[in-house]
Amino acid sequence: MDMQLKPEDEAFRQEVRAFLDEHLDAELREAGEKTSGISSAHVPLMRWHKILHAKGWVAPGWPQEFGGTGWSDMQRYIWQSECARANTPKLYPMGLGMIGPTLIACGTKQQQEYYLPRLLSGAHIWCQGYSEPGSGSDLASLQCAAVRDGDDYIINGSKIWTSYAQHANHIFCLVRTDKTTKPQAGISFLLIEMDSPGISVEPIITLAQDHEVNQVFFDNVRVPVANRVGAENDGWSVAKTLLTFERSSAYAARLKLMLGNLETLVADSGDAALAQRHAALSIRVAAVEMTEFRVQAALANGRPNSSGSSQLKIMGTEAQQDIDRLAVDALGARAAVWQPERREMGANVAAIGPEATQGILADFLNNRAASIYGGSNEVQRNILAKMALGL
Ligand SMILES: Cc1cc2nc3c(=O)[nH]c(=O)nc-3n(C[C@H](O)[C@H](O)[C@H](O)COP(=O)(O)OP(=O)(O)OC[C@H]3O[C@@H](n4cnc5c(N)ncnc54)[C@H](O)[C@@H]3O)c2cc1C
Repeated sequence: MDMQLKPEDEAFRQEVRAFLDEHLDAELREAGEKTSGISSAHVPLMRWHKILHAKGWVAPGWPQEFGGTGWSDMQRYIWQSECARANTPKLYPMGLGMIGPTLIACGTKQQQEYYLPRLLSGAHIWCQGYSEPGSGSDLASLQCAAVRDGDDYIINGSKIWTSYAQHANHIFCLVRTDKTTKPQAGISFLLIEMDSPGISVEPIITLAQDHEVNQVFFDNVRVPVANRVGAENDGWSVAKTLLTFERSSAYAARLKLMLGNLETLVADSGDAALAQRHAALSIRVAAVEMTEFRVQAALANGRPNSSGSSQLKIMGTEAQQDIDRLAVDALGARAAVWQPERREMGANVAAIGPEATQGILADFLNNRAASIYGGSNEVQRNILAKMALGL
């Protein structure tokens, strides 16, 4: 992979900067700054999604024939870095980043033609129904049942930790279609409308007092068989394809931004040990960036590299948590200020302490989940042990 910045790449960077300068208004910048979870506040996030769609830039990771940008690895990297630098709102990853690429890889032509344009436009908002109470790391033990009834399946059971189910109008689900065979062999992958009769959503409020995750209940929900992706009982291979996309998100650009924001705080503390931690983290983030280049290059060549993305998930999320910890340590007692109401969009509440340090504790608390969601880091280490080390 060629990582040299060519004149045309520099020109592209200027084009991206001009676009971001023009379109990021005060509300979108506020939404970016106040993001401490996986995605930004719903209303500005969807407005940003539609601006990107109008420009044709909403799905840089997709092949061009399906609505992607046709950018090179370097252009995609520049785009991500510039978005991180400008602190744009974070879009929902479950649609553009997960089910979209999965339908491109495993969906039928009809499914691609129906779902992909609606996903690009923002008409369809997706959430991910994999985990269940009792089935997280051991996902193949899932019990949410789909029983065939003519041209439909009837779904009963529940999904948990479903991010943004309260905003989604579609959910992709792993369901059990055969209880008699070994667990992985009896799972199917379904696309379900959230307004189907029998679906209900209960909020779960997190440590940082955010409503990000939910439990979704299915009570005799009818889903057409045509909404299945892949063959019946072959959902596990579709699920694994999707997880490769889920784990290959970009970390380095945002980690660099976080470290940059911390420079003054660490310098002002006058504490050499904190400065040393900051320097060591900068080196780790450079290593994350190089791993991203490798994973992106493999994806672009149509060879998703699941051990590379597992490695990236561990490196990226652990660096993120260590940067958060450094920020809290550098703040000292001031980290204890807790004003969740200031993180609402348009909040008109005076900050206790310096404006620049607001949100540090919320980031610290929220990012504790980063080493759990998308498959815990212990499970990623198991994957690495098998796939990369052959253990
Ligand atoms: C904020 C957040 C958002 C999420 N969003 C979604 C979503 O949108 N959709 C969705 O489907 N799921 C989502 N999840 C669920 C997430 O994927 C699971 O929490 C995760 O897979 C871990 O499963 P578990 O919570 O059941 O923990 P468990 O599987 O019970 O694990 C408990 C502990 O044991 C460790 N462990 C388990 N098995 C092994 C092993 N074999 N070897 C070593 N250690 C092991 C784990 O690493 C963990 O530390 C989300 C989770 C969080 C926290």
